[in-house]
Amino acid sequence: MSVFEHPSFDNHEKVLFATDEKTGLKAIIGVHSTARGPACGGCRFWTYDSSADALDDVLRLSQGMSYKNVMADLPIGGGKSVIMKPQGAFDRDALFQAFGRAVDALNGNYITAEDVGVSPDDMMSVHKTTKHVTGLPEGKAASGDPSPVTAEGVFRGIRACVKRATGSEDMKGIRVAVQGAAGHVGSYLCGHLAKAGAELIVADMNTDALQKHVNDFGATIVDKDDIYDQDADVFAPCALGSVINMNTIDRLKVRMVAGAANNQLATREMGAELQKRGILYAPDYVINAGGIINVTGEIRGDYDPEWVKQKLVGLEATLGEILDRAESEGRPSNVVADEMARARIEDASAKANAA
Ligand code: NAD
Repeated sequence: MSVFEHPSFDNHEKVLFATDEKTGLKAIIGVHSTARGPACGGCRFWTYDSSADALDDVLRLSQGMSYKNVMADLPIGGGKSVIMKPQGAFDRDALFQAFGRAVDALNGNYITAEDVGVSPDDMMSVHKTTKHVTGLPEGKAASGDPSPVTAEGVFRGIRACVKRATGSEDMKGIRVAVQGAAGHVGSYLCGHLAKAGAELIVADMNTDALQKHVNDFGATIVDKDDIYDQDADVFAPCALGSVINMNTIDRLKVRMVAGAANNQLATREMGAELQKRGILYAPDYVINAGGIINVTGEIRGDYDPEWVKQKLVGLEATLGEILDRAESEGRPSNVVADEMARARIEDASAKANAA
């Protein structure tokens, strides 16, 4: 399939394919929309089976960032990048510096940050070759690791869903099955949930790292392949995308799906399938916007924790608006969210073109 015909191409403004023979860099940067400001979104470092898979991932993620940023009412556009993990040995610092040069070639149209597989230290490597980078561990307005703020937003989203389902915000005894619980976001999320009194069922590829969750939060570990079958109230996907698919959906016994992972639904139709089964779905890009809110705080140049907090409160309000509309119109929440996001982007484009 060509780039232009790809289902997630969706009028991307730019797609940059970058290679560097010396470091083994193979990266793709998607700039979906700059209508509201520079396209911002993290960089994913992952082992892809093919460049087609990498393209698939970057286009979906980049489009998702546009929707996420506009729904969080941020003064930025949407983009994303992926680096295909080289086979064999490689120089990590040199690789991320080469990636920085690719980012720099876009002259500020795209600003990068961390995503899966990328650390604040990697962003320091990127910073050696471009200034268009956020999520740095040091510096005047550095916001650091975005994961704690993402986790807080996801926690607020889960709590709002619980309130809809039970009539109360009380999380005591609410059973949450967290996939990817040992990850950056998953770990912080488990902390919030446990503090609020929720019962945790956790799974991760890295089972050793989950022992801490047992000790600190009284969590129950299950095999990563069994996380879908748990007798829980909430399924919180915090690993990778496409986990709600035709193979998993009928295994779910939960009343709600709300988590941090991007692109949780394998296809858009999965939203309707969840609705049919009476499962409330919190659109991923709405409740996982905490990280990008945090880095936007850095981009604004005057990192203000109070501004970040207000934006997180705003996420809850936006989620409420989407779920109200979905309920009153009897439509899937993901479809309602997409429509709202597209309308806001079109509005911004029309204003930008008129200016
Ligand atoms: P991470 O790499 O730190 O954590 C992912 C975790 O998932 C790892 O512990 C990994 O072992 C585990 N995992 C991978 N495959 C699994 C499987 N099949 N079953 C169970 N566990 C599995 O990444 P992260 O930063 O915590 O991000 C998690 C998700 O949230 C990603 O989808 C990311 O795109 C999304 N997200 C992250 C942020 C952020 O601020 N970090 C912001 C928005 C969205």
